[in-house]
Amino acid sequence: MKKAVVTGAGGFIAGHLVLALENKGYQVRAVDKKPLTQWYQVSKQADNLVLDLNSRENCYQAVNGYHEVFNLAADMGGMGFIETHKAECMLSVLINTHMLMASRDCGIERFFYASSACVYNADKQTDPENPGLKEADAYPAMAEDGYGWEKLFSERMCRHFSEDYRLITRVARFHNVYGPFGTYDGGREKAPAAICRKVIDKELYGKDEIIIWGDGHQTRSFMYIDDCIKGIIDIMYSDIDEPINLGSSEMVSINQLVDIVEDIAGCRLIRRYDPVAPKGVRGRNSDNTLIRKYLGWEPSISLKDGLTSTYAWIREQMVKDKKNKAKADRPDRHTH
Ligand code: NAD
Repeated sequence: MKKAVVTGAGGFIAGHLVLALENKGYQVRAVDKKPLTQWYQVSKQADNLVLDLNSRENCYQAVNGYHEVFNLAADMGGMGFIETHKAECMLSVLINTHMLMASRDCGIERFFYASSACVYNADKQTDPENPGLKEADAYPAMAEDGYGWEKLFSERMCRHFSEDYRLITRVARFHNVYGPFGTYDGGREKAPAAICRKVIDKELYGKDEIIIWGDGHQTRSFMYIDDCIKGIIDIMYSDIDEPINLGSSEMVSINQLVDIVEDIAGCRLIRRYDPVAPKGVRGRNSDNTLIRKYLGWEPSISLKDGLTSTYAWIREQMVKDKKNKAKADRPDRHTH
């Protein structure tokens, strides 16, 4: 039986990964620093550990007795978070450093690292008509300040642990992942979830306006969680030893993203634009030539389909939140 450690398991992507690996028959150890009650999904079968993986000792405890590591723990969020928490994002370097050291010393056979499209050179992302970022476009390096530099540095550390210590490492550069069980409020949410939430606000709270960050012409591609999970597992067991894009190549502007969510909801909102809000690069897309070549596959779930299920899930959560809030606000008839 394969025994895999999944870090960041209380979060969005790793929470899905734990369940997918268990479905494939793995024994999983799920690790996160958040208290278990705050994990987005909790597997009953997994060995769930609450550990802060900034600490070297905790990383040794996390990998001990296991064969493989999927390292997804990081302090991260959407543009609103990473543009204002650069030091915090860079401190995630401690997690990957200590996880690599522990993996090297404890006989881990394979190590997956979740990198990001934020490693790409900003100069190659100034046009909304981005032709797609190729893996080589990360160099010469001019990554997203803070978060992106940490990812680029950690990618290189994976490479050198492979070369110098023969630890097999696999690195995927995720491009915006979305889906059910993702963050949709609180400041760390990303554009698809934030836009769904703002559109649902109209139905639940009568808010007619949507504030769009920037002018809405900035472009991105968005990958549905199921594609991401398949990609992670396939890349882990491939012989791709260079960082590789894992993203959709269906590029849309933020305005088009709002159009799709409005179509799903069957309503239209008044759009206001906030030119000073964090907006990131002007245009970004994933060039999937390499992943097609290696895996004969690329993420292909359409934005329309992925957003339909994401919207339904966020709406369900917001309806529950509203009911709970109403209950909490109701005066208690038994107290005088
Ligand atoms: P997430 O924030 O939902 O999950 C990350 C988890 O890591 C959180 O539960 C957090 O508590 C945990 N964590 C943070 N610091 C920790 C520590 N010191 N010790 C233990 N756990 C810690 O984020 P996600 O969207 O699921 O992202 C997973 C990975 O994928 C991250 O490495 C992220 O940088 C990368 N990534 C995500 C996206 C995306 O669009 N979601 C894009 C590119 C890269």
